[in-house]
Amino acid sequence: MRFDNRSGSGSGRSGGSGGFRSTGPREMHKAICSDCKQETEVPFVPAGDRPVYCRECYQKHRPARY
Ligand SMILES: [Zn+2]
Repeated sequence: MRFDNRSGSGSGRSGGSGGFRSTGPREMHKAICSDCKQETEVPFVPAGDRPVYCRECYQKHRPARY
């Protein structure tokens, strides 16, 4: 007896372990807003070669969408 009847049920879910971790707080990094010079926190490491804005200034500086 051979198991070549593989069409149909049996291959529904595959895996189960895989990088999808969204639980837990995001790590915040302190930065200085490039606009109002206030200290803010951003959810990414400030690179230094690009401006970092606080939440308010980010609203003003984000690219306009059409
Ligand atoms: Zn600001």
